[in-house]
Amino acid sequence: MTICSRLLLALGILGISLLAQGEKTSADLIVSGGTVVTMDGARTIYDDGAVVIKDDIIVAVGQRTEVEGFINGHTHVPMTLFRGLHDDVTLDEWLHKYIFPAEAKNVNEDFVRWGTRLAAAEQIRSGITTFADMYYFEDAIAEETKAAGMRGVLGETFIDFPAPDNKSEAEMLAYTERFLKRWQGDPLIHAAPAPHSIYTCSRKTLQDSAELARKYHAPILIHVAEMKKEWEDSEKQNGMSPVQYLDSIGVLGPDVIAAHCIYVDEKDRMTLAQKQVGCVHNPSSNMMLASGVSPVPEMRAEGVAVGLGTDGPAGSNNDLDLMEEMDLAAKLAKITKMNPLALNAKAVVEMATIDGAKAIHMDKEIGSLEKGKKADLILISLNEPNAVPMYDIYAQLAYALKASDVETVVIGGRVVMRDRKLLTVNEEQAIEKAREYKKTIAASLGLN
Ligand SMILES: [Zn+2]
Repeated sequence: MTICSRLLLALGILGISLLAQGEKTSADLIVSGGTVVTMDGARTIYDDGAVVIKDDIIVAVGQRTEVEGFINGHTHVPMTLFRGLHDDVTLDEWLHKYIFPAEAKNVNEDFVRWGTRLAAAEQIRSGITTFADMYYFEDAIAEETKAAGMRGVLGETFIDFPAPDNKSEAEMLAYTERFLKRWQGDPLIHAAPAPHSIYTCSRKTLQDSAELARKYHAPILIHVAEMKKEWEDSEKQNGMSPVQYLDSIGVLGPDVIAAHCIYVDEKDRMTLAQKQVGCVHNPSSNMMLASGVSPVPEMRAEGVAVGLGTDGPAGSNNDLDLMEEMDLAAKLAKITKMNPLALNAKAVVEMATIDGAKAIHMDKEIGSLEKGKKADLILISLNEPNAVPMYDIYAQLAYALKASDVETVVIGGRVVMRDRKLLTVNEEQAIEKAREYKKTIAASLGLN
């Protein structure tokens, strides 16, 4: 028996009657043999549960360990190829001396494809089933994400300088409109515009990209209040905070996914809650760049949906491990408030699953193991030295279990990793290609 040897983290619930009463249900996949952590409204846990899947939908959840797949609410996946390029410098130096020149010289469609493949392998291995991305050539990223069988909210970047793919705002608008049209109705890919931030986009760029998103009912991805300087400059130039500025120009709404939200005062937080903006907390990145600490406990208490992200993976993390972000989110809040109760294990598991789904405005589809939701779930081994004994499943998930304990990953009913073997990504090839890219990138910057 494999009872209690695995943890199934799923988003969604019910359907237990189907199993209990032995009613006939045609299923494509039944995941069983463990504890099911549903993250449903009642946070139901089945000690020996199962999840029954037909097509890409959960039709039943009942006794048997599975967990809702994790949601990485903010990242830039092709930057895997810049992982470790240069760390331990200020953000300004990193951007201007290393990353902008490296991007100008190296980022093309081939680069983003290989970077995305590598990131898909890394994310699947750590139990991530959905990620929200902001980069260039996002249409190619979408193709690679779909090929890997992952769910993605993929934002094409708008920025007020010539980008590696589009050289003007007109080109950015035309590219993104084609991109939005192409992926309408896709079961895995949600295409979106991603105006980079208020400090790299004019009011017009911000408004035009938001208008385009709304025309196609797409979300809007943006970095918000991530640096002290951004907040100070906004106060000087706009006479108000970044959040109030974005609200005043009509950008905020229930379709916005705001990464970071560090410099947000009480008034800003009320605005974020009222406008139903989703926020994504990136503890590794915020610590590594010494950006500041997002007031996560306050935002949660005030009704803002707060998810978790890895950011990075270059220069600000440098990996794509959401289990690590759960651990760090709780510990960062505790040390900042000098209060071990500030943010608990259950709260950070919520942020990685159901609240993450709310933050990216997809909680009707994903975020919990419930009947009717998409069949995104992971199995985590509990047969590891760091997994026993287990008194509290949320504490185990947040503080003890590791990405390497993830054994099997199902996305939309498709098994993408079984017993730690990737089934949709050629991992060896992606690793080899990353090593080749390292040589080209280093040479392009005159490094050894
Ligand atoms: Zn970012």
